[in-house]
Amino acid sequence: MNIDSSHDGMQDKNADKPIYIIENACNGCGACQGVCDSDAIEINDNIAQIDYDRCTLCMMCLKACPGEAVKLSKQNKDADVSNYKDVWVYIEFRNKKINPACLQILSTGYELAKKLKYHLNAVVIGNSFENTEDIKNNLEEYGADAVTFLQCPDINFNYAEDIAAILAHEILLNKPDIVLFLGSNFGRVLAPRVAAVVGTGLTADCTGLYIDDENRLVQVRPTYGGKILASIVCPYHRPQMSSVRPNIFESKKRKISPGRTSLSIKDVRIDSFEKVKKILETVEKKDGKMSIDEAEVIVCGGFGVGSKDGFDLLGRLANKMGGAVAGTRAVVDLGWIDFAHQVGQTGKTVRPGIYIACGVSGAIHHLIGMKNARIIIAVNKDPRSPIFKIADIGVVADLYDVVPELIDSF
Ligand SMILES: Cc1cc2nc3c(=O)[nH]c(=O)nc-3n(C[C@H](O)[C@H](O)[C@H](O)COP(=O)(O)OP(=O)(O)OC[C@H]3O[C@@H](n4cnc5c(N)ncnc54)[C@H](O)[C@@H]3O)c2cc1C
Repeated sequence: MNIDSSHDGMQDKNADKPIYIIENACNGCGACQGVCDSDAIEINDNIAQIDYDRCTLCMMCLKACPGEAVKLSKQNKDADVSNYKDVWVYIEFRNKKINPACLQILSTGYELAKKLKYHLNAVVIGNSFENTEDIKNNLEEYGADAVTFLQCPDINFNYAEDIAAILAHEILLNKPDIVLFLGSNFGRVLAPRVAAVVGTGLTADCTGLYIDDENRLVQVRPTYGGKILASIVCPYHRPQMSSVRPNIFESKKRKISPGRTSLSIKDVRIDSFEKVKKILETVEKKDGKMSIDEAEVIVCGGFGVGSKDGFDLLGRLANKMGGAVAGTRAVVDLGWIDFAHQVGQTGKTVRPGIYIACGVSGAIHHLIGMKNARIIIAVNKDPRSPIFKIADIGVVADLYDVVPELIDSF
């Protein structure tokens, strides 16, 4: 299998995509088109072309190509997956009760944890807990080694983003290798949001989960209307995340000595500012100044910064986070920052892990250059600013109140 994005110095126009065609290696034989069940490949001028809106990344074209003209991108190939361990199961908790179907997922988590010699952690999130000991005892019966209660009075259970922010933060801090969800109505809304924030994949509606010879989670699920069963692995990202619908697996009580399961209760807060701080805390700090092309963290200032001096403040935040400072065209035109730092249509396109937009309105010309950042945080006084439409976390506030506090929090 080809996993590489560099070859003979050629720059293929789709090399940033997860799978792409090397044009000078393709003779238009159509072998890839013949195996593509999604009709995602066309042959034009004797060269295969992938329609990325249709492609499901099934990789059949990669296997079928006789000329090695289909390649998998190198992106994230080297992500370090060795630091992750343990299996987590998210336990739904409403009206002072856990959802009993989550015990089915916990039972499966137990088998996976046993095979990998990991701990099995049941994570329960709620506004407040009165009966933690009873809940823990119940989860212990189904094999949990640890039960973690995350308590937050402000959670609105109609708003999955709150739970996603709390869970994603814990995942980023603790690095579990596997996270499982019940594929209930709520779990189906929650799990992809968590996956998006932590930057991993999610296999929804699995019908089988097992560990392969390389200790990877194999996630089995029907596809193409149930015609085939796909076995999906997540080799380059962590955690490996799956959801399973109710009643696919059985809940099984385990013969374990009572009282061995640990219980922890953690108070968490979810106001926007806290969310920002939590995410920033997880950033790996690097030394030195970076250019915006390579920075994992970008602090971008717009006209709302108000003056050239204001960029010193943004620079201090960027330095603390090992990131780089960028600007909108408005501030570049004013000479507050150099053109090399301009993001947008007539500036640079960036794709950092975290993009903090301070005093940026979010004009389309700017969004073009930064919309692919993994987490977008916007600080703006005006709640109607378009930047909030694409922000993962929006803080409606004066940047001169927020940025100094963020700097102090490091
Ligand atoms: C052909 C073309 C190409 C362009 N290319 C680019 C490009 O590459 N990059 C680019 O960025 N733009 C580009 N532009 C310009 C773009 O359309 C916008 O004008 C520009 O992005 C606006 O910059 P801004 O967000 O900094 O300023 P504004 O739109 O003026 O927004 C300032 C924001 O700051 C907020 N604010 C004010 N004070 C504070 C405070 N104290 N705390 C918090 N928030 C505050 C305000 O509420 C406001 O939302 C281009 C335009 C054209 C026509």
